[in-house]
Amino acid sequence: MRNTERSAALHARAQRLLPGGVDSPVRAFLAVGGAPPFVERGEGAYLWDADGNRYLDYFGSWGPMILGHAFPPVVEAIQRAAERSTSFGASTAAEAELAALVVEACPSIEMLRFTSSGTEATMSAIRVARAFTGRKYIVKFEGCYHGHSDGLLVKAGSGVATFGIPGSAGVPEEIAHFTLALPYNDLAAVEEAFSAHRDAIAAIILEPVVGNMGCVAPAAGYLEGLRSICNRHGALLIFDEVMTGFRLAFGGAQERYGIVPDMTTLGKIVGGGLPCGVFGGRADIMRMLAPLGPVYQAGTLSGNPLAMAAGLATVGYLRENREAIYARLETVTAAVADGVAAEAERAGVAITMNRVGSMWTWFFTETPVTDFSTALTSDTAAFGRFHRAMLESGVWLPPSQYEAAFLGIMHTDEDVQATVEAARSAFART
Ligand SMILES: *Cc1c(COP(=O)(O)O)cnc(C)c1O
Repeated sequence: MRNTERSAALHARAQRLLPGGVDSPVRAFLAVGGAPPFVERGEGAYLWDADGNRYLDYFGSWGPMILGHAFPPVVEAIQRAAERSTSFGASTAAEAELAALVVEACPSIEMLRFTSSGTEATMSAIRVARAFTGRKYIVKFEGCYHGHSDGLLVKAGSGVATFGIPGSAGVPEEIAHFTLALPYNDLAAVEEAFSAHRDAIAAIILEPVVGNMGCVAPAAGYLEGLRSICNRHGALLIFDEVMTGFRLAFGGAQERYGIVPDMTTLGKIVGGGLPCGVFGGRADIMRMLAPLGPVYQAGTLSGNPLAMAAGLATVGYLRENREAIYARLETVTAAVADGVAAEAERAGVAITMNRVGSMWTWFFTETPVTDFSTALTSDTAAFGRFHRAMLESGVWLPPSQYEAAFLGIMHTDEDVQATVEAARSAFART
């Protein structure tokens, strides 16, 4: 057994001061059981906890760490920026520089604004979409997570699914009322909603590849179908690429699937591990924002110089090496995702493996997982046993059945081999 004494002591102390001992609920490990290791440092594909245990990291800070931990060019960029001060509340050259890289990656984005989180990005995109269309309703999909703002915390997958809370306490019904939550991968449900709420739906927001109910790919023709429904009804199509942006391709899911959304939100990778989000899109839409237009949105730390520096170093590196990076991510991720799935099959454990690029989920179910209700057929107790066994072997998977795992450029073939072997013994024991 691992030594967990110091993590346990830190956890006990944190629990007295922070609700659940955490600043974000899924970190508490309630969905898988066992105690969360307290992290001391990371390097490349590895994390070390307070007791000196080493883990192979397959959650990558929930997405941002595509270049691995403490990647020297990113660390140096942050250090150089910090020496010139950590915040100004005034414009810097770096904002337009990173904006130009974002626009190059996602040409559907003509103008954008930086925020400090993905939550702010999606919340602000919705406000702009409502102002631009003069409509109140939005369509989202069950199991898609778009951050924790009131109107988007309706059937929101991920942490919400993990804890079985239908939305959240503290969200007035009147606010949730304007959010229509529909099943993912079901175009007929979207057509029906648009007939029932004629000229009242401002936008459809979705994860073009879902990560927050576990990894679920869009069915063939689904994204095209949503694009055409929006065109017919004068609604905006918003791709929430906070997770998929710069991960599924340099240009995210919109590049991978060849769909042009009206608006896009980004986060995670774009900030290189510092707090950062983006909302952007067509210039005529983005000109609704103050100071040009009537939509108010602001942030003391938005476009923060450290976040811009980390984002520039990260996105710049991805751009320079895009061919090699995305090809390698594809093969290494396939090796680990398929390798573990094959071990499950050999052990007689029912698993449905969903993967798109370098995000994937092993669902403990034999049912194909195409939406939230099929994701919920998973045996979460079996996933919890698997998670604990893997952690014991030094492999840290996302601590919930309803989260996607991620891989970065620092994961080696040897890491994959070690993971497949850990899974073989985990399946033998659980
Ligand atoms: C993580 C995530 C968010 C929220 O971003 P935060 O930075 O955690 O506020 C929004 N949408 C998607 C798709 C995400 O994965």
